[in-house]
Amino acid sequence: MRSLTILGATGSIGSSTLDVVARHPDRFKVHAVSGHHRIDELAGICQRFEPRLVAVPDDAAAQRLIQQGVGSRTEILVGRPGLVQIATSPDADTVMAAIVGAAGLAPTLAAARAGKRILLANKEALVMAGAVFVDAASSAGAEVLPIDSEHNAVFQCLPLGRVRAGVRRIVLTASGGPFRQMSLEAMAAVTPEQACRHPNWSMGRKISVDSATMMNKGLELIEAHYLFRTPDHALDVVVHPQSIVHSMVEYDDGSVLAQLGNPDMRTPIAHAMGYPERIDSGVESLSLIDVARLDFEAPDYDRFRCLRLARAALSAEGSAPCVLNAANEVAVDAFLDRRIRFVDIADVCESTLEALGDGPAGECLDSVMAIDAEARGAATHRIAELDR
Ligand code: NAD
Ligand code: MG
Repeated sequence: MRSLTILGATGSIGSSTLDVVARHPDRFKVHAVSGHHRIDELAGICQRFEPRLVAVPDDAAAQRLIQQGVGSRTEILVGRPGLVQIATSPDADTVMAAIVGAAGLAPTLAAARAGKRILLANKEALVMAGAVFVDAASSAGAEVLPIDSEHNAVFQCLPLGRVRAGVRRIVLTASGGPFRQMSLEAMAAVTPEQACRHPNWSMGRKISVDSATMMNKGLELIEAHYLFRTPDHALDVVVHPQSIVHSMVEYDDGSVLAQLGNPDMRTPIAHAMGYPERIDSGVESLSLIDVARLDFEAPDYDRFRCLRLARAALSAEGSAPCVLNAANEVAVDAFLDRRIRFVDIADVCESTLEALGDGPAGECLDSVMAIDAEARGAATHRIAELDR
């Protein structure tokens, strides 16, 4: 029986995880959960799964849980220390890291230091603090299993999930998002609702916008660099609009291994939860006859400037990935609040990278968070200029 903490249980990945858990009551027990918004939904999760611990952002959220009768079976923890406590609890062996953005770094890193099996969805944590995170996990003997569908696919195409000699290239597939064929002029006018309407995947709002700008694929290149210790010249992106081939590994002999499946995050979640065994995820069988064709094309680095910026940040290393991630989070928020245009996201990222992207990488959580804070300040300043 595995005992699971779910950081970000109310999100898209959180609910897919709970769906897989519910299919295997003999294998998994939910030990702890967290949620930041949608506290009523969190109360429902507590009533259904009866975790021992729940972490919420503040006292108002805790009161709301108590009003719904959650306090009797489940201990309620408040604020950031609560997140770290559930991520490191000795009674959980596995942590699903599914908080979105920089907020997930501290508890995910704490889980790594505590030697947990980490099911890593929170790619931003790895982009911000790649070396710090990977070192912490390897010194504590924490096992990191990727949830991001591309990285989970790559993991499945590598023996024991590790890069061995003989790998020539890792190729990440990208759907191209909702604006794959749209001109830059037309992109200037797109709304948050359009950006969040992904053709193949149902996801949270931040990653949906990242998919639309293709920053998501850029963050994933950086994620792959740290997860698989692969240099940037051996990492490629190919646009594949059907999202059936989730990624590929090419070997020196010319063999290419790919992982295929319907676009449903329960597949990579169930893969990592059951690993090394295979368990039912609830995902339908893939019908290649219904899919009928698989298309591939090169990414357009001119229309999707965010992808180019992420490539540049990856080759620059140092502070650049962390700066880029912070600027992007601030810019995506501003776009979702209708303070800047969709195409301004790349502008904010570029100007922030130019200002702050040539420093050294953070060496510990505090220095990473300092780089993150400075970049958020610079990005906010740039947004104020654009807003005028
Ligand atoms: P989501 O917005 O649906 O859920 C985010 C979760 O994080 C929620 O539980 C929310 O309450 C919590 N949260 C938000 N802000 C927080 C804060 N400041 N402090 C603590 N908790 C906070 O997002 P999602 O789509 O489930 O994505 C989660 C992570 O998984 C992201 O890093 C994303 O890039 C990654 N991911 C998601 C998908 C997908 O299909 N949804 C696929 C691959 C990777
Ligand atoms: Mg992905």
